[in-house]
Amino acid sequence: MSTVPESHQPVADATITWISGPVLRATVARPFSINEAALVGEQQLLGEVIRLDGPYAVIQVYEDTTGLRPGDIISGTGAALSVPLGPGLLGNIFDGLLRPLTTQGLYIAPGISHSVDGDSWPFRPRVTAGERLVAGQVIGVVKRNDARAQNCLVPPGVSGTVVEIVPTGNYPGDVPVCVLRDEQGNEHPVCQVQQWPVRKPRPVKARIPVEGPLFTGQRILDCLFPLACGSRAAMPGGFGTGKTVLQETLAKWCDADVIVYVGCGERGNEMAGVLDEFPKLEDPRTGRPLMERTVIIANTSNMPVAAREASIYTAVTVAEYFRDQGLRVALMADSTSRWAEALREVSGRLGELPGEAGYPAYLSSRQADFYERAAHVTTLGGTVGSLSIIGAVSPPSADFSEPVTTHTKRYVRSFWALDASRAQARFYPAIHPLNSYSQDIEVLAPFWSELGNPQWPEQRRRFLSLLEEQAKLERMARIVGKDALPPRQQNVLLCAELINEAFLRQSAFSETDRFCPAVKQIAMMQLLDRFIELSARAVAAGVDVAAINSLPVMRQLRRMGEEIDNNELERFEVLGKGLDRAFAALSNGRADHAG
Ligand code: ADP
Repeated sequence: MSTVPESHQPVADATITWISGPVLRATVARPFSINEAALVGEQQLLGEVIRLDGPYAVIQVYEDTTGLRPGDIISGTGAALSVPLGPGLLGNIFDGLLRPLTTQGLYIAPGISHSVDGDSWPFRPRVTAGERLVAGQVIGVVKRNDARAQNCLVPPGVSGTVVEIVPTGNYPGDVPVCVLRDEQGNEHPVCQVQQWPVRKPRPVKARIPVEGPLFTGQRILDCLFPLACGSRAAMPGGFGTGKTVLQETLAKWCDADVIVYVGCGERGNEMAGVLDEFPKLEDPRTGRPLMERTVIIANTSNMPVAAREASIYTAVTVAEYFRDQGLRVALMADSTSRWAEALREVSGRLGELPGEAGYPAYLSSRQADFYERAAHVTTLGGTVGSLSIIGAVSPPSADFSEPVTTHTKRYVRSFWALDASRAQARFYPAIHPLNSYSQDIEVLAPFWSELGNPQWPEQRRRFLSLLEEQAKLERMARIVGKDALPPRQQNVLLCAELINEAFLRQSAFSETDRFCPAVKQIAMMQLLDRFIELSARAVAAGVDVAAINSLPVMRQLRRMGEEIDNNELERFEVLGKGLDRAFAALSNGRADHAG
């Protein structure tokens, strides 16, 4: 951590008296502050003060505490636990305290001195001497060959007139590239790398209402349970229901400028899969490596538990840093349940009174603090940026009534419930349409309307009510048999089955269907809506549901996502005409019959 100068000499600010796993107690020789970073023992392990209790401080240590003993000394850093934010983040993989893992494998040596802030970056100034700048304004641009362009900003709390600015060139992240002089005549050197305390949200000029969606290319999300850009979603699901695949699909396809992916407490081999796979992924929009706009933060279950607790805050701080550059940022956290378990473990070691399922009473407020950091904002520099948060939740035994899931529900606006029985039937994405919701439908209606589909809210409602009716009718059909249902109800089952098969099912591994552009989603939704209308009319006129089901056009409808390529959307029109003709023929046949 570079809050700490390289030359830092250990000072005995406190002495360890008691150790329990990652938590220790120490007698203090000088006052500490809460959340102050501290260096523990000979190896200067990084810790954070979490409680002050008279002459004692309680400190959680972010590294393995094996080998520490009572009597070892602790020195405070005088600063809150902070991370270095700078141009070296994109394209790299870090641990929960933002120390790079790339060059050192999944394990890094204990101690404090790893960071990328000393590396050099190609800096191009955007200001000249004499200009007056306020916090958040752009000083220069960094364009690495292997990452998207980034802005270097005046840090929060600093403003003044430019008295020095370096010419274009390569500069180490921790060397000033600009000096500002404020009205009192104080000089403020500004480096490309800046420190920020992880537990403190970065300031913005204003939070502004959300408007458009974070578009994902996944029909069940965009059309049924959309997430507004700058909003927050959760995807709870048991083991194997597709959380990781969905997070990766979103990372790849959602229309964010920057992705921050935090793998929190997943098992080592799962995380290794992500670490292995992500660097190979291609950004489908640019054809460049996806890592050029991605930051990965990895804390597997075998890494120290307290670092897992911190990794979520580290990730959201990194995400805010990019948001402040006026970018659309999506943060994926996999999984917030492991993070909550880390809170529980530390709390247990502290001897705190356990709440529901052993979690500490402050679990809910910590979750709220995290999700609250999602926002659509005007940045300090006056641009618009957003941070959308998508948290995976892995409830034990897929029980959605457990505390982490229930609290999460209170703080998110979109809830994507992954369902074990759908996953078992290999129906992906296994999001259950009746257990999921989005609270941003009204704000997002103009998005679809501008694209030419003002009927979207009604179509969505119709689809959902058919799916709801299907669930009821299936229960009934199990008792009386499907054929005993009246024709209208048999048709409801047919329509709902079609919505599921033709629209909601979408394989992440299908070349054609893994990303569905908005225009294709509209074409598909309109076709299905037309089918719903035509079939209801035909059934009311006495057409047999079995006759509808055996129309050749049904097969085309069921496979349209898979078979119609994103650049041959005119085929939807042809399919629509075919649909009209098929129903016309059906009712003519019926009329002929009657005649
Ligand atoms: P979890 O993270 O919830 O344990 P995974 O994301 O690892 O589950 O998914 C388990 C398996 O399910 C994957 O290996 C894949 O075969 C399948 N799967 C999940 N989601 C999809 C999807 N959207 N499309 C196709 N297959 C999927």
